[in-house]
Amino acid sequence: MRILLVEDEPSIADTLVYALKTERFDVRHALTGGDALTAHRDRPFDFVILDIGLPDMTGLEVCKRLRERSAVPILFLTARDGELDRVLGLEIGGDDYVTKPFSPREIVARVRAILRRSQGEAPSKAPPPIDPDSPLTHDETSMRILCRGEALELTAHEYKLLLVFIRQPNRVYTRDQLLDHAWEDPGAVTDRTIDAHIKTIRAKLRSLAPGTEELIQTRRGLGYAYVP
Ligand code: CA
Repeated sequence: MRILLVEDEPSIADTLVYALKTERFDVRHALTGGDALTAHRDRPFDFVILDIGLPDMTGLEVCKRLRERSAVPILFLTARDGELDRVLGLEIGGDDYVTKPFSPREIVARVRAILRRSQGEAPSKAPPPIDPDSPLTHDETSMRILCRGEALELTAHEYKLLLVFIRQPNRVYTRDQLLDHAWEDPGAVTDRTIDAHIKTIRAKLRSLAPGTEELIQTRRGLGYAYVP
């Protein structure tokens, strides 16, 4: 896995290069946007970590140019805690962003999460169809999940979680995988969050149709699965 790190601040760059190499990533460091674009054109990278404030052009500009010919995952580093940077960065094709100061571990975790997401999506963007005879079904237009035809009252996260399950019945998901799928910022929450949400989902299922709470099963030491 080859990573291009574009960062003009030596202390930040050194720390990140070291952390990524420790995780066995093959890292190349570029100091300027121009250098980064040339390096990527010569031999494309699998991942780009991109500082927004660079000496020759902004990271946003570099991202735009990379996107003209590449779908490489891009993680922005930004010094400013501005919503503007974030929105702009994601609009022009970045995959995620981290605000300085950050820990190298946080960066490594984000890189892994983005890679998992992008590799998981690679074979087909379209989710598998949900069996209409399944006890839980999805009404796409109203963005509701139905239990035996009756709509469940769910929060946004409960909805996203349950949708992950019902799209792949019988598949066991670890808490990490569920965080990655149902949260935009998985770093901000813990495994326990998943447990708490599963508990409320089960309670809602039970109150709508007793017995259906057992559709979401616990696999001890592994995670959870939807077993229709
Ligand atoms: Ca900078």
